[in-house]
Amino acid sequence: MDLNDDTGLRRDMPQFRPTQFNYQRACMNNTLFPPRPAPVIPVKGMAGFPVARIFCVGRNYAAHAIEMGNEVDREDPFYFTKSAHAVLLSGRDMPYPPRTADLHHEMELVVAIGAEARNIAPAAALGVVLGYACGLDMTRRDLQTQAKEKRRPWDTGKDFENAAIIAAITPKDQLGLLDDLPIRLTVNGAVTQAAILSDMIWSVPEIIADLSTLYTLQPGDLIMTGTPAGVGPVVAGDVLYGTIGGLDPVETRIVRA
Ligand code: MN
Repeated sequence: MDLNDDTGLRRDMPQFRPTQFNYQRACMNNTLFPPRPAPVIPVKGMAGFPVARIFCVGRNYAAHAIEMGNEVDREDPFYFTKSAHAVLLSGRDMPYPPRTADLHHEMELVVAIGAEARNIAPAAALGVVLGYACGLDMTRRDLQTQAKEKRRPWDTGKDFENAAIIAAITPKDQLGLLDDLPIRLTVNGAVTQAAILSDMIWSVPEIIADLSTLYTLQPGDLIMTGTPAGVGPVVAGDVLYGTIGGLDPVETRIVRA
């Protein structure tokens, strides 16, 4: 067989023509299909923030750790992640997700990273922050609980479509002292979560410093910094409205899928 004669090879299997597969497109983009664009979060007074990675802090408010049946300690912060494609922009409806009967809200401060950070000291960590936003870490609590019981990863409970609802980012120089800000969530107008950011077990500089020893933080990365007590289930028809000081509120309505 002459391997250089590709027309000869195909004579035996006339319907198999691999070189025809998206050949023209591959020549134009060098990809089989268009890459999924990164979600872009609006930034007040600036161009948009294209999302790369989403890091989430577990148990960062003592009262929430207690309500989830955990001990409170400062041993080590721990993290899980959500895909950038889990982002839902604030103001849009959230379809009730599949395979859960216990979708929970978690109101959180979101930190937007604007510069590279690796092994950064806490004292320098705020230097890589571009700004802050209100966010909702939506959680399929039943799937997360099953995963915990079976010592399996949390991904299906935490990282799914529309599970990271993010409001517009406020550049940090437009904000006063972060610690003093109240964080609050209402569901259908009734307050469910209320705390103050200084209640966080790990501060924003401490979180950034610690994360930067595990990962090289890059512009486009977001950090969801954990939720205060008062998490709970939502159902179709519920309207969620979360605020942190003067930041743009995060809002969504849960709708039947
Ligand atoms: Mn959370």
